[in-house]
Amino acid sequence: MRMSKIFRKTLVLMFLLFGVISISATVLTVWTLYSHMTEEYTSKGRVIARAIANSSVEILLNRDLSTMQSIIDQFLEIQGVEYVFVVDGSGEFVSHTFVPMVPEEVKGLPVNPHGLMVNEVDMGERGEFIDTSKPILAGVAGYVHVGMDKGLIRAYVRETVIKMQALLAVIFWGSVLLLFVVVKKISQPLTTLTEYAGKLADHDFTAEVKITSRDEVGLLANTMQSMAQELSELITGLERAVANSTMELQDTLTYTSAIIDNVADGLLVVDTNGKITRSNPALATMFDFGDVELAGRDAKLIFSPQLAELALLSMEFPGKVFSAEVALPEQKTAKATAASIHKIDVDDDTGEAGPDLCMGAVIIVRDITVEKEIDQMKTNFITTVSHELRTPLTGILGFAKLIKKKLVNVVYPQVASPEPKVEKTMAQVGDNMDVIVSEGERLTELINDVLDISKMEAGKTEWRRHRVYMAEVIDKAVQSTKALYTEKSLPLNLDIEDKLPEIIADRDRLIQVLVNLISNAVKFTEQGSITIKAAHVDEFVQVSVEDTGVGIAAEDQQSIFERFKQIGDTLTEKPKGTGLGLAICKQIIEHHGGDIWLESIQGRGSTFYFSMPVRGVDVGLDE
Ligand code: ADP
Repeated sequence: MRMSKIFRKTLVLMFLLFGVISISATVLTVWTLYSHMTEEYTSKGRVIARAIANSSVEILLNRDLSTMQSIIDQFLEIQGVEYVFVVDGSGEFVSHTFVPMVPEEVKGLPVNPHGLMVNEVDMGERGEFIDTSKPILAGVAGYVHVGMDKGLIRAYVRETVIKMQALLAVIFWGSVLLLFVVVKKISQPLTTLTEYAGKLADHDFTAEVKITSRDEVGLLANTMQSMAQELSELITGLERAVANSTMELQDTLTYTSAIIDNVADGLLVVDTNGKITRSNPALATMFDFGDVELAGRDAKLIFSPQLAELALLSMEFPGKVFSAEVALPEQKTAKATAASIHKIDVDDDTGEAGPDLCMGAVIIVRDITVEKEIDQMKTNFITTVSHELRTPLTGILGFAKLIKKKLVNVVYPQVASPEPKVEKTMAQVGDNMDVIVSEGERLTELINDVLDISKMEAGKTEWRRHRVYMAEVIDKAVQSTKALYTEKSLPLNLDIEDKLPEIIADRDRLIQVLVNLISNAVKFTEQGSITIKAAHVDEFVQVSVEDTGVGIAAEDQQSIFERFKQIGDTLTEKPKGTGLGLAICKQIIEHHGGDIWLESIQGRGSTFYFSMPVRGVDVGLDE
């Protein structure tokens, strides 16, 4: 049977304790007993010596040796007395109890004529003795010696120690037995409990523990059992929940996969290293990949660099969507739109949401070959029609202006008549000519804008690349619109940050954007002021044109950048522009990788913002 650990430890402790007790008790007993017995034997010797000395003066003086012998012989019967002898004044042995003869060691022992004297005598094999001498008649008559056996003292001490050790041994083994029984009683349930805990640790929640005692161990066993039961129920519940969630997740995944696999657009997902993690059949069809497995391959080795660049760009600017046209096999064209995929990193320990974690990018590729062809046809049509319209219009406008000039310079002075009817008709003709000229000019502007935007949308605009300083662009735009805002007495404030970084852009087109924004601000502001600000924000140069005019209702703010979008009823209100200005601005800014937006409160004013990226490659500049 294996000894329990508690029992073993307690046993060792007991051994040590008993060892210490036994040794100290023995030492103490031996020392006390020995000194006590020695003292007792010494005093016994003294008493006997004194008694003999007192009673033997006359006997000794009369030299009655037989009486002397009988006196000393009777003292031999006293326990511990080993020898008695009497010497006369000259040291001659008068009587003694030695058999057969007086040993040499007791001859010439030192004596004291004035009183008792105690000596230790070692007689070799005979043993050790306490010799007590007493002078008789101050040593004149002689001396009596009594020898007490020290061996007896030792034997007595030894016997006592042996008895004591035996008793201690009995007590010790009795205690060990008691300890064994007690420890077994305590450790048995603990061992059972430990085995039970081991089973729980091995996830065996069906195990049972049988401890019926009402003490702490019994309580602990009950608590553990109910905990195990709760844990088992919890785990079963969790397992069921996980199984359900897994099933739901699987359903969702199957559903999502079905959608992804069946959409007409191509879908490509790449990780942060540009490795393909997902694609759909539409993508494979578009790029003629057949059954080639794309997952795990490097996107830039498979697709055009443009597509890979788009994915990288979207990961670099999270939250922004980037688009580009990419070539497909068989001279087809697709539009790729990329956005980064993010997840919020949650701290495992605290459960707090950490920073956004970029996981890659998703790119949607749409075949726009047909749209492009239709667009091309549309652009060709618009360009042709615009040209066809512009030529006669230029003639009409030229002649209208000429007629107006002739009317003012030649006809009116000739037909000056006091007739009010004639004068009224002449004034009416003059006004009508003004309308023809201004509407003709508006029509020309409209045709120019239509041509401009359709060229931009068709990608036929020739963009130039200059090193541009925004302060310079703002200055030019302010100069060319000076007539407009001074005519309406609107102050124009400038707030331009020092040391704005240069950007790479088409300078004239940027001036066109600013002129348009300032003209609109003037157009829609009757009083207050116009403020132009420029600042370096992140990696962009941000410009804003703020006015204190009529403002734009929230519901119109989204559509304002669409073509021909003018707020208000254009049928009843006389339009003040072409409705293409902001659409052209948007095209220009987006072509440069920038953004254009507005903030406005109706009745209080509007602020139009645009931002241009600072980053740019300064190769192939047009100056
Ligand atoms: P338009 O040539 O008609 O001004 P835009 O595209 O420049 O064409 O502007 C479209 C419409 O947006 C305008 O007709 C006007 O209703 C509104 N708009 C533009 N700028 C402002 C502004 N600063 N304040 C109020 N409304 C504006």
